[in-house]
Amino acid sequence: KEPTDINALADEYLRLAYHGLRAKDKSFNAELITNFDESIGKVNIVPQDMGRVILNLITNAFYAVNEKKQRDVNFKPIVSVSTKKTDEHITISVSDNGDGIPEKVKEKIFQPFFTTKPTGQGTGLGLSMSYDIVTKGHDGNLKVETAEKKGTTFIIELPN
Ligand code: ADP
Ligand code: MG
Repeated sequence: KEPTDINALADEYLRLAYHGLRAKDKSFNAELITNFDESIGKVNIVPQDMGRVILNLITNAFYAVNEKKQRDVNFKPIVSVSTKKTDEHITISVSDNGDGIPEKVKEKIFQPFFTTKPTGQGTGLGLSMSYDIVTKGHDGNLKVETAEKKGTTFIIELPN
């Protein structure tokens, strides 16, 4: 682990993922919103591992809004990333205004190889790996809040 600027890490991956997507599909547009708590300072993490988690969550968020956009041309995709420091925790949240996760699906999303994506588009390993990195690797927690048709927020919670 090393002291890491998680705001910079999250910002970098958000832009990287967005530009990667737009390189493949020029017509894709999303509003990116960031809300970084500047009081966080450096956090002791394994940057490559936590970067992977953040990228996984961001990639899933873009996939969710992109899928909704395919069905509704008037839909305005929004992906936001925010960080916050409280007395107990440091949180990194990734939100999208996609279709949310149905209850039956939500029960399984952290299982290895579970995916609802077509063959070739998802391995189903992103969230299970992310869960292990956050919980086993960083004594943290990975939570999800979702509302059908409205969107999803994943929250990485690290001990402060
Ligand atoms: P993959 O992305 O390869 O499918 P993940 O482990 O990253 O695997 O995600 C597992 C499943 O969780 C996805 O297939 C999808 O059904 C659901 N999921 C994850 N993130 C989101 C999201 N932001 N919005 C809606 N569904 C999601
Ligand atoms: Mg994924």
